[in-house]
Amino acid sequence: MPNSYTGKRTADVVVIGGGVMGCAAAYRLSGEGLSVIVLEKDEICAGASGRNAGGVRQSARDVRELPLAIHAVKHIWPALGEELGVDVEYVQQGNLRLGRTEAHLEKLRGLVDRNIRAGLDLRMVSGAEAREICPYMSEEVIGASWCPTDGYANPLVTTFGYYRRALDNGAAFITGVSVMGLGKVRGAVRRVYTDDGVFEAGRVVLCAGYYSRAVASTVGIEIPVEREDEEVFVTEQLPPMFDQVLGTAEADFYGHRTKHGSFLLGGVSGLQRFTSNHDGCPTEAYTAPSLVRAIIGFFPAFADVKIIRSWSGHFDACADGVPVISNVDEVPGLTVACAFTGHGFGISPAVSVAVKELVMDGESRTIDVSGLRYDRFKAKQ
Ligand SMILES: Cc1cc2nc3c(=O)[nH]c(=O)nc-3n(C[C@H](O)[C@H](O)[C@H](O)COP(=O)(O)OP(=O)(O)OC[C@H]3O[C@@H](n4cnc5c(N)ncnc54)[C@H](O)[C@@H]3O)c2cc1C
Repeated sequence: MPNSYTGKRTADVVVIGGGVMGCAAAYRLSGEGLSVIVLEKDEICAGASGRNAGGVRQSARDVRELPLAIHAVKHIWPALGEELGVDVEYVQQGNLRLGRTEAHLEKLRGLVDRNIRAGLDLRMVSGAEAREICPYMSEEVIGASWCPTDGYANPLVTTFGYYRRALDNGAAFITGVSVMGLGKVRGAVRRVYTDDGVFEAGRVVLCAGYYSRAVASTVGIEIPVEREDEEVFVTEQLPPMFDQVLGTAEADFYGHRTKHGSFLLGGVSGLQRFTSNHDGCPTEAYTAPSLVRAIIGFFPAFADVKIIRSWSGHFDACADGVPVISNVDEVPGLTVACAFTGHGFGISPAVSVAVKELVMDGESRTIDVSGLRYDRFKAKQ
């Protein structure tokens, strides 16, 4: 059967995946004058980037990825709307991570200590101080971590903002084309095999979420990720109660208000790995009730609020919980950016800076991603 795509099949860089990582990388690389083709098996923003809750969080991150989060919040998020020419709905009113037991506080203190040592401005607050910041929470909250510079943004608008600016820069986006594997020429990656023929690239950026694992394996690279499902729901419009992002020590739920007045609340039941059939992105019976119970426990004011819509998405959960952002020594020309483990959106603007430098300069100089290499994994036995 002849190939259906009849356009140009050669570019300086072929990007695999049209989520926020692929669109942002395409924007940065095309902005440097490189020709870029993005190959997306579905539609732009059809994966986790179009389904996430939009948290832009530095707090409670592993110190290996904290430099990305701090860089994004300090240097990119505040002016990103202006840069992309769209309102990304960025709100920076802080993040409270709540505790109801001494064990919760112990856990939160550990996170806070590690993050402070890595340069983040955050602290523990008492239950009373937490209620001063956000008066709607239950008296059962006895303490929290408080990061005043965390926030949230709109992931759909952000991803499409990057997409449109990349198009303006001349990048080509080809949707409905699935990458099946990579091929080397004279030792370096050059070919991208798809279900619609072959593309030739000077460099390849692989950011296909969970599916990066299968694509990388075609050139002998194993990225230890598994698929995990998570759900989000949106409430009816409510009076503007608070603008902080909320989470808990045990990650029972997270959420925040949106620009339109609803609340976005999300999380997992802990059972979805055993209940989801991994076919598409279905919601499952346990998650919404368990999230609702957790939310009402912390915020009794939500008891009579109506949920108007819910959805699920899946992400690439890495064996050690942090992303892989790296050039691959055994496959010159290949840059990998995946395994974001359910918290990639907030760091995506900074990831695109690191990816651009990895592609163009061979190393990420602006942001330290040395702890996120593809070859850091050690077998446990
Ligand atoms: C329910 C949920 C809530 C979340 N909440 C937050 C949050 O509040 N804050 C936060 O920071 N992060 C959050 N995340 C995580 C965040 O959404 C992801 O880390 C981020 O979107 C990753 O972007 P990506 O571009 O790597 O992946 P994706 O958006 O999944 O994009 C990968 C793309 O690659 C395409 N693709 C796959 N295989 C192929 C192939 N073979 N050929 C061509 N294309 C292919 C897919 O179709 C997809 O469009 C959440 C995730 C979920 C699911």
